[in-house]
Amino acid sequence: MSACTTCGACCACFRVDFAVYEMEDMGGSVPSGLAVEVNGSTMRMRGTDHVPIRCAALTGKVGERATCGIYEWRPSPCREFEEGSDACGRARQRHGLPPLALHGG
Ligand code: SF4
Ligand code: SF4
Repeated sequence: MSACTTCGACCACFRVDFAVYEMEDMGGSVPSGLAVEVNGSTMRMRGTDHVPIRCAALTGKVGERATCGIYEWRPSPCREFEEGSDACGRARQRHGLPPLALHGG
């Protein structure tokens, strides 16, 4: 099972920007209201440029039980983010969580 269901650190660590065409009302899937406009071509998940960072779509508690409320409709940066990557390790470290063991798990 993915460690992500008990983590969510990356959803509370980075800015999440993506093309405006990924918005539901532009033919994409991301529900309007959960993202804010950065400029005419870029949107940002609400909450990911606040301090402390926390995506508005994240529910639960980081490091215990965390879920993306729009998992099937999440934007491309979230789809491309790799569990076990360096960025994953940095996100977990910022939340006091150990890096994932990449092998032997
Ligand atoms: S930081 Fe890594 S383990 Fe945690 S939710 Fe993100 S991808 Fe999954
Ligand atoms: S949209 Fe979902 S996967 Fe992406 S940062 Fe927000 S909570 Fe995490």
